[in-house]
Amino acid sequence: MTSANSPLVGKVALVTGASSGIGEATAAALAEAGAKVAVAARRADRLQALAGRIEKTGGKALTIEADIAKDGDVTAMVDKVVAQWGRLDILVNNAGIMLLSPAAEASLEDWRRMIELNLLGLMATTKAALPHLKTAKGHIVNVSSVAGRVANPGATGYAATKFGVVAFSESLRREVYADKVRVTVIEPGLVRTELGDHITNAEFKAGLENRLATMEALTAGDIANAILYAVSQPPRVNVNEILIRPTDQER
Ligand code: NDP
Repeated sequence: MTSANSPLVGKVALVTGASSGIGEATAAALAEAGAKVAVAARRADRLQALAGRIEKTGGKALTIEADIAKDGDVTAMVDKVVAQWGRLDILVNNAGIMLLSPAAEASLEDWRRMIELNLLGLMATTKAALPHLKTAKGHIVNVSSVAGRVANPGATGYAATKFGVVAFSESLRREVYADKVRVTVIEPGLVRTELGDHITNAEFKAGLENRLATMEALTAGDIANAILYAVSQPPRVNVNEILIRPTDQER
C-alpha cells in the first residue's frame, strides 16, 4: 500500500521484460514505492497477471505487449506510456536473453537475437524515451550483467552485448547529465529466474542448472531492491553502477 511519503509518488516508470524475473520484481517494487508503472514484454497474459497484483494493492499499472527487438513496437510502447500518463520519469531497460555458447559452436542466429534485443533494443528504447526523460529530468536504468565486466569463456555473444550496454550507458551519462538525466547500470551475478531456459547449447544449459543447484543465487527481488535504491536517491545523487554478486559467486 503506497502513501504520500512513498519515494516515487508522482513518478511514471516503464519496465521492459516485466513478464518474469528481475523485470517483474522491479515493476512490483516501483509500484509499491508509489510510481505508476508501465510493464512491457511479449507475454501479455503474464503482464496482465502482474498488473492485477499491482492494482490489487492500490498501485497503477499499464500493460504493453511489445517485442523490444522491433523498432515499431519500441516507439509505440513509449508513445503509449506518455499518451496514458503524460510523462516518463524512470526507464528500466531490462529485457534480455542469454544464449550461452563458445564462439566455435555458436549459432549466428543466437548472436543476432541477443544483439538485437540486449543491445540494439535497449539503445532504441533509450532513444525513443530520451525526449520525455529530459523533460522530466528522469532516470535510465540499464540492466547489464557481471558478464558486462568479466568476459568468461562461453559467454562470447552475451558478454559482447552486456559490455556494449556498459559502454553505451557511460557514453549516454556523459551526454545527458547536463540535462539532469541520471543513468545507472546494474550488473547482477547469478539470479534465479527463467533466463537459462532459452539456452540452446545443451552443455552450457546443464552447466548453468548445476551452478544454480550448488550455489545460493540472488533472487529477482534482490536486484529490484538495488534498482529501487538507485532511483529513490535525491536528484543530486547519480548512482552510476551497481555490481551485485551472490556471496557464493567468485567470478
Ligand atoms: P527472465 O528470462 O526471467 O526475463 C527476461 C524478460 O525479458 C522476460 O520478461 C521476457 O518476456 C523479456 N523478453 C525476452 N525477449 C523479449 C523481447 N524480444 N521483447 C520484449 N521482452 C522480451 O530473465 P531475467 O529476469 O534474469 O533477465 C532480465 C535481465 O537481467 C536480462 O537483461 C538479463 O540479461 C539480466 N541478467 C540476468 C541475470 C541472471 O542471472 N538471471 C544475471 C545478470 C543479468 P517475454 O518472453 O514475455 O517477452
